[in-house]
Parts: sequence; C-alpha cells; structure tokens
Amino acid sequence: MAMNESYDIVLKNGRLIDPVNQINGNFDLAVKNGKIAEIAVDIPESKALRSLNLKGASAIPGIVDLHIHASKWLGGKHSHYMMARAGVTTALDMAGPIEDFLEIARDYGAGLNLACLNYVRPGYTVSCHDPSRDELKEMMLNCMSQGALGVKLLGGHYPVTPEAIDRTIGVAGELNAYVAFHAGSTNKKSDILGMLEAIELAQGRPLHMAHINSYCRGQVTDLLDETQKALLALKENPNIVSESYLSPINGTSAKCTDGVPESQVTIKCLKVGGFEGTEQGLAQAIKKGWAQINMESDRKVALAVGEEALAYWRSHETNTLVCFKVNPPEPRLVLASAKRDDKSFAVDCLSTDGGGIPRNTTVAMGLALVKLGALSLEEFVTKTSTNPASILGLPQKGHLGQGSDADITVVDLEKCSCVMSIAGGELIMKHGELTGSGTTIITSPLGEEALKAQGFKTQKTGSVLMKLPRNSAA
Ligand SMILES: [Zn+2]
Repeated sequence: MAMNESYDIVLKNGRLIDPVNQINGNFDLAVKNGKIAEIAVDIPESKALRSLNLKGASAIPGIVDLHIHASKWLGGKHSHYMMARAGVTTALDMAGPIEDFLEIARDYGAGLNLACLNYVRPGYTVSCHDPSRDELKEMMLNCMSQGALGVKLLGGHYPVTPEAIDRTIGVAGELNAYVAFHAGSTNKKSDILGMLEAIELAQGRPLHMAHINSYCRGQVTDLLDETQKALLALKENPNIVSESYLSPINGTSAKCTDGVPESQVTIKCLKVGGFEGTEQGLAQAIKKGWAQINMESDRKVALAVGEEALAYWRSHETNTLVCFKVNPPEPRLVLASAKRDDKSFAVDCLSTDGGGIPRNTTVAMGLALVKLGALSLEEFVTKTSTNPASILGLPQKGHLGQGSDADITVVDLEKCSCVMSIAGGELIMKHGELTGSGTTIITSPLGEEALKAQGFKTQKTGSVLMKLPRNSAA
C-alpha cells in the first residue's frame, strides 16, 4: 500500500451520529492530517496507523462548549484537563483576560481548540463604569490583536452603565468582534429584568446572552414565569444567540476587598442562603456548607466546604472561586428543550459555564436529557456541537462531513459518559486518560500574527455571531 493511501486513525465498530450529514448508524470513520477522510461501512484496520475499537459506543461531532472559564483568575490551570476528560474538543472562554488565558493555554494545554473573550471590567480592562467609545475601541483592538475573539460584558458581576453597554455592542459590531453579555448594569441586576434590559440595549444587533438559566431563579417573579419571559424575549429577538447550562451550581468569585465580596453575584447568593453579603457572611456560609469553595488538586478542581475549605480560602487571601446551589431544575429543563415556531431551539446551545469550574456536565446531564426524552440524540448534537460551531463562525466543525475538522467525541449512551475524544485529528482522551497537549487558538484575523509568534497553532474565524443557526433552519 502506498503511503499516501494510509490514514492516521480509524474508528471501528461504532455508531456514528451526525444530523448535518444525516448519518445515524454503524460506520467506520478514518482521520488523516487532522481532517475526517472517510466514512464507510468497513474501513480495514490495515489502512490506518492506529485503530480504535468503539464497540458499544457512539461517535458524535466534537463538543463545542460556548461558555467556559480557563484563565488564571477564573478556571485556573486544571481547566483544560477537566474539559478534555468531559469530552469537550472546542470551547469559548467567557472572561479572559487574554494574557491570562494564553498563559494557561500555553502551559497547561490538553490538545483542545479554544477561543477567548476579554472581559469589560472597570478598574481592570476599562478605567471606570462609563468608559467612552474611544476607550472601548482601543481596548477591543488591543485584546483582539493579542488573539481575543471579542469581549464579554460581565454586568452581573462588575457592572457598567447602560450607555457603556450600548457603546460596547456598537464598537464590537464595527470591528466584527464577538460580544457576549452576562446581564446586569449599573441600573439592573443579574436577573430577568437585567436580561430584558440587555436585549433592549442590543437594539437588534448581534449579541450572545450568557447562561439564560441564571436569570430564571425566581428572584423577581416566580421561576416559570421568568423562564417564559426569557423564552419570549429570545423568540422576539432573533439577533440574540444564547446558551443555558444544566448544573445545579453556579460559579463566582470568592475574592473580598475591604470585608466585602467584589462580585455582586456572590453577595446576592449569600443573601439567598440567609447569610450576610460580607466577607464574614461568606466565611459562615463556607463553614455551614452553603458556599462551596473550588479547591485545586491533582489536575482537577473539587468542591469543598467546612473548616478545610475555609482554611484553603483564607490561605489564598479569599481569591478563590465559589459555587452556590442556586439553579432550580425546572428552568434548566425547560430552557434546554424549548423551541421556536420554526422548530429551531429558543436557546441555541447547551453550555456548562464550566472549564475550571467543576460542572462540565454536557455529556453526563445532556445525555440524561436524551434518556428522559427531552432531547433526541440528534438534537443533543445540534445544541452541543453544530449550533455553537456555527455561532463561532467555524463551518468546518459541528459535523462529521468529509474534509471537516477531525473533532470527535465518543460517548456511552447508556452510562451517559465520555469514552474518548479526538481533537484536530489527535487522540486527546481515552477512558479518562489524557494524551493531548498544546492548544489551538481560534482567533480573528487581527490576532493570528501575535499568536503564531508565541508558538500557538491557530484557526481563523471571520464571521462570528452572524451565522445564526435558526436562520438556516427556518
Ligand atoms: Zn461564566
């Protein structure tokens, strides 16, 4: 056999599911040079350098998680490992900052494809709560020239004025920058009213609304009323792309300054649990088990409460992450499955808000929804791979077509678990064992040069947020 006929990897004896190419059945799949080379009923093992037996398992297009955290301050050095173990092959970091994000990507890569949004945060990336148009433009150009895909407004945590939000969305549009928003401003909180304000401020312009479920916690009216309001707003505003997650826990900063948590979300969560919104209240909440501190150990992050967690938090000068069990099940279930009139999903993607926050639950909880019958297996793929790939402007991902990127997640449908994953044609995880390294950065044309100079592999995207998946489904 001539060398040019050989494949790098062949996946044997598995079931393949790819709704884009209408594949659902038992096929072999061959990978060569990072691309999907062939799908056929039988591809002989002898044609590939490596053969992997998928017997009993199913291969789907690699999971694209449109909301994760993998920077030094939010997510940390284990985030890539945690995502790779959970079957993620591509993800969008929803805070940055880009320098922090790249440091983790360079030193603790696991073979994933990652993009990063730089946060708009007073005192950090912008000077104040009401940055000018010029300041925002300079900040955006600066972070994009370093490799960021765009920006994230972190309103719920670190608010800016509605006028500054309007300017941010405007400048992002001009620069073809990705713009995402955790609802909330100096006028509105991180709740359903904040979400409706955010959509109003978008004025028909493209915007990614983060974690819709977090605005449906019954803070303003009741859970299901808020959920219906959120869905109606998404249906009436097709310019908004969105995701929701399935985990019962949220994730926020435990960092305190002058005796008070810096994040407004953290303060709110303390009050919901019956604690004071202060450093002392947070200490009490950790002791009593309401506030779960994210503790790093052995290439992962685990949740901890009580004295041990308190000591860890103190030894890190309060600068850790914390999770609260604030997500009730009903909105998560409704938002995961609700549809528009054209049968496309009201919330475009299933995300995790995970990464280094221990809730990378797409496979475990998303496949449980398939078992429950809330989603078909094809719909699970649409929400976890096809739609997010499309929103990131990556037509070569989100399906298993010949010539597309060899990003593949192999799952056990019975156990709702992840068996192995391949990213960019490389096996990066098998039965929990990590075999990948490095990070491919998904960037705009503005960031390519700087990333290459730092030794990163890159993948360019040009038209973020513009290819809304529901338009093609209509
Ligand atoms: Zn987040």
